[in-house]
Amino acid sequence: MQRKDRLIQEYIHDPYFTKTKYHDPSICKRCGVVFHDGIFQWMEPAPVNAEPMICPACRRIEDKYEGGIVVLEGDFLEKHKDEIFNLIRNVERNEMAYRPLERIIEIKDEGNKITITTTYEHLARRIGEAVNRAYKGNLSMQYPPGAKYIRVHWERD
Ligand SMILES: [Zn+2]
Repeated sequence: MQRKDRLIQEYIHDPYFTKTKYHDPSICKRCGVVFHDGIFQWMEPAPVNAEPMICPACRRIEDKYEGGIVVLEGDFLEKHKDEIFNLIRNVERNEMAYRPLERIIEIKDEGNKITITTTYEHLARRIGEAVNRAYKGNLSMQYPPGAKYIRVHWERD
C-alpha cells in the first residue's frame, strides 16, 4: 500500500498525466501498460473493459520530453561499452517492472561519451548510481531548483 501511494505521487503533478483524463481501466496502445485503480501497472491479462490510450511515458518518448539526463564520459567507457550498455538496459528493465513509466527515451553514443535521456528523474539517478557502483569513478547529480528534473554526470579515465 505504501509503495502504491508513492507511485501515485510521482506522476500526479506530471503534465503528461494531468492534462489527460485517463479512463480507469485503460490500456496504452503503444506499450500495453494499464491504468487501473488509480495507478499505472503491468497487468496480464489486461481488464476486458480497458479503453485504449497513450500513457504518459509513451507520450514523453514521442515528444522527447525528458525528465532526466545521464552523461557518461571517459576512456574507460569506450573499452567497456558493451558491458555498460547491458547494465543500463538491465537497470531500465528492473525499474520498469515496479515503476512502469520509467523508460529510456534515447541513448546517444559518441565514442567516449554516452548521453541517455529518461522519461523521469528516478531512472536517470538509478543508471548513474548503478554505473558508479559497478565501475567506480566520479558521479555527480544536479537537480535544477524548482524543476522535476535531474542531470547526472559520471566519468572515469
Ligand atoms: Zn505506453
